[in-house]
Amino acid sequence: MGRPLLILLGVFCAGCSSAGVRPASSVSHSEVIGASVEGRAITAEILGRDGPAFLIFGVIHGNEPAGEPLLNLFLGHLKKNPSLYSRRRLVVIPVLNPDGLARKSRYNVRGVDLNRNFPASNFKKSRRNGPYPASEPETKALMKMIRQFRPTRVLAVHSPLLCVNYDGPADSLAAAMARASGYPLKPSIGYPTPGSLGSYAGIDLRLPTITLELPGKLSGEKAWADLKEALLVFVNH
Ligand SMILES: [Zn+2]
Repeated sequence: MGRPLLILLGVFCAGCSSAGVRPASSVSHSEVIGASVEGRAITAEILGRDGPAFLIFGVIHGNEPAGEPLLNLFLGHLKKNPSLYSRRRLVVIPVLNPDGLARKSRYNVRGVDLNRNFPASNFKKSRRNGPYPASEPETKALMKMIRQFRPTRVLAVHSPLLCVNYDGPADSLAAAMARASGYPLKPSIGYPTPGSLGSYAGIDLRLPTITLELPGKLSGEKAWADLKEALLVFVNH
């Protein structure tokens, strides 16, 4: 009489274990997507498996460090609450310019402003912009993510201008993020940015592209407290 019971239990347990697998949308992993000029790893955290991809990155300018703790706190919150990104894929790069971050420099180690180095139609070659579009390994790492994931929405975290700026068809998304953060909404940053990610992704590719400008001095915890709602708006608007 014992054997049929054991078989039944076996069947029940097999069903139980497959039901216990986490839903695909909660899957996350980190991936080294490139290396800086000095060989520092550039890492992306990839969350979710299905749905449109949203690209989020910080510290393209190494002297704007607040993006790193802010995005790491955001990642921690997302991993604890996978329902926040169901039917979304999020590609989050807390630090795109690790050499600049190590030196507290805006530029990469070859002196190029990476946010002027994208293959936008308004790219202008110069010592600061690079000899040709995507000449720098850090730019290439982000371009690889754009090619691989074909994001439908982009968020870049900068400082110290304290505003929500945007390029491309992002009016209502940017306005909702400005409302959630209390930051001023600024359709234009007030000066030309040839070869910027906003020019490339927002204007040329027509992707809603948000530039979130934090104030100058802000701890990661304060940034997270101030911007949590706005970041969740970006993911769910
Ligand atoms: Zn910046």
